Amino acid sequence: MFSDLEDSPPEDILRWALTTWPEQAAILTSFQAESMVLVDMACRIYPAVRVITLDTGRLPQETYDMIERVRQRYQVNVEVHFPNAHDLQALVRRHGPNLFYDSVEGRLACCRVRKVEPMRRALRGLAAWITGLRRGQSIDRADVRKVAEDQENPGLLKLSPLADWTWDDVDAYSQKHDVPRHPLYKRGYTSIGCAPCTRPTTAGEDPRAGRWWWEKSDNKECGMHPRISTGELESQLVTIGGA
Ligand code: SF4
Repeated sequence: MFSDLEDSPPEDILRWALTTWPEQAAILTSFQAESMVLVDMACRIYPAVRVITLDTGRLPQETYDMIERVRQRYQVNVEVHFPNAHDLQALVRRHGPNLFYDSVEGRLACCRVRKVEPMRRALRGLAAWITGLRRGQSIDRADVRKVAEDQENPGLLKLSPLADWTWDDVDAYSQKHDVPRHPLYKRGYTSIGCAPCTRPTTAGEDPRAGRWWWEKSDNKECGMHPRISTGELESQLVTIGGA
């Protein structure tokens, strides 16, 4: 249905989405380089573009600094969504603040409460959400399409305008347009998430190897981007007792 957009450059996809749904298309960002490129591009097309982020409560200080930089640089009102306080309190009281180190189930439960549920709330009412996913980021993302129906949210489109970009494309655009760069890249991070679950990577490692590095699985997703076509990861988002 949207196959003609698969060869379009990211600016064309953004222009199409922001013209079609100026109030119902939004960029979801964790302020990594890819989504910062999209924020920069989108603000040139439609300065009132909606920018959404999730405050999990475990973010590094540098990410909060990025929220402030983006607010000032682009004059956008970053829409911050938080976990449900009751659910988070129940999870932490029962399993402690660091349950993600105990088991994959604990990690997925934490991601569910701190990320997936708030994201679902954030997406409510949207026609399209825009992500910085690239096929080259990991094997799990190799099939990402630029425009796809969101398998988890019927009726919602998921746009990944940079799907066929390389890291060098992202870097070149960022430098050319002086796009704000998350400070943790300079400290060896190649993917940036919650502070206790992300470490820098070393040469030759997969860019997402620093996420949940203590787990043996190669699957480095949290449920926000369940396996693109099967929803397999989403099905693992089990609730551990009382969460
Ligand atoms: Fe919890 Fe870690 Fe997932 Fe953040 S990345 S929501 S701290 S398990």
